[in-house]
Amino acid sequence: MDSRQTLKAIPKVDLVLEAATAEPGLAALPRHILVESIRRALEKIRAGILDGRLTSVPGQAQLLADIAAEAKAEQLFSLRPVINATGVVLHTNLGRAVLSAEAAAHAAAVASSYSTLEYDTAEGARGSRHAHLEKILTRLTGCEAAMAVNNNAAAVMLIMAALFSGRELIVSRGELVEIGGAFRIPDIMELGGVALKAVGTTNRTRLRDYAQAIDREKTGGILKVHTSNFRIIGYTEQPELRELSELARAGGLPLVYDLGSGTFTDLLPLGIQDEPTVRQVLKEGVDLICFSGDKLLGGTQAGLVAGRRDLITLMKAHPLARALRVDKMTLAALEATLKMYLDPEEAFSKIPTLAMLFASPSELKAKAEALCRTIAATGAELELEVVATESQTGGGAAPEKPLPSQAVALKSERLSEPLLEERLRKNEPPVIVRTFQGRLLLDVRTIREDQFDLVAAALKNAVA
Ligand SMILES: *Cc1c(COP(=O)(O)O)cnc(C)c1O
Repeated sequence: MDSRQTLKAIPKVDLVLEAATAEPGLAALPRHILVESIRRALEKIRAGILDGRLTSVPGQAQLLADIAAEAKAEQLFSLRPVINATGVVLHTNLGRAVLSAEAAAHAAAVASSYSTLEYDTAEGARGSRHAHLEKILTRLTGCEAAMAVNNNAAAVMLIMAALFSGRELIVSRGELVEIGGAFRIPDIMELGGVALKAVGTTNRTRLRDYAQAIDREKTGGILKVHTSNFRIIGYTEQPELRELSELARAGGLPLVYDLGSGTFTDLLPLGIQDEPTVRQVLKEGVDLICFSGDKLLGGTQAGLVAGRRDLITLMKAHPLARALRVDKMTLAALEATLKMYLDPEEAFSKIPTLAMLFASPSELKAKAEALCRTIAATGAELELEVVATESQTGGGAAPEKPLPSQAVALKSERLSEPLLEERLRKNEPPVIVRTFQGRLLLDVRTIREDQFDLVAAALKNAVA
């Protein structure tokens, strides 16, 4: 039969619908999903016949199975959980920081009820949404005042527009960075109506360069930017933060620091030297800092700004503050996360980002062995081995400082490594892995123990 004849044998949607509604599993589906699934299944058959993969129309049983598979895919959320086996703790494509269960529960509680978002129960009067985080940020960082906006890019934008519009801001040439996507410091400054006064060179900027650039008429302040996802090594120089803040103070200029990640935890025990804590930075005399809520902090997407009260007051009053404000779920998740930092032990045990970053070598080894056993117990035909590997912090933090970790390395006799990787990625939930020297690596740093059974089942299905 030629393909035109075969195409004619494809049944009509109405007929298939009749057959499908006789199947209890399919009949229970909402009608629009069932009809759409039938259309898709038939469309795939048509495409298969046209490109020669199919030489006949599948029988009814196969057709109904195809429709059930389409319906399952149709009902999946587009945004849904995945298992991160890459070892990248703050994986930008996989949603950056994992929120703690407690913070997620508090966000859900606030979202599904009326709340004190802008209501002061003590006064029985209108309150401010800025109040929820300000007090706790003051306690945690030693700042005078604080606020939150949509993300750190928005924080930088608001700082520019509210504090420096129409003025010049001095920035070292070594810090004119692009953070990823379309976030480039010079562009954001221009958008905020700020003139960039670049000083020094890519690798060396001295205090003298800043001092010479100060113009009594034009200069609005000094901006420091954390270079986050890149490092200049070798013949480099930047003034100490303390020297820079003294220079700014002497000139009556605010010193602003876009800290990028922003941590409340000393990361020196991990060998990470260039992520000072927010408190340390403020202590050096910086007037205003901004940082992300969902990088090293381990909260949810937000830009946190902390520092001098007069500057924060100007920012809160600026019209852009309304456009960039955060919603109640974000505020709830952040407040719950920040509260955990009041007790460092609680922070380390409950904030997933910290727990993953600080997981000890022995803990990781035991975890990898346990995952290996769980996979082996499924009887899946795989060569398994526990191996040492390296995780990344991610989120633009410490790019040059891998974290020693442990992984299950695996390979199949029958399936190529790209095919196995694809099947895991198309599993539900998707399992995202790295490949290395012909094997798949499952880095246990970013896999929760309660996900081991799901990972094992995904592998068993993949090789079946
Ligand atoms: C990540 C980063 C930003 C952007 O923060 P988002 O929260 O992603 O908007 C801005 N500046 C620096 C230095 C960063 O590292």
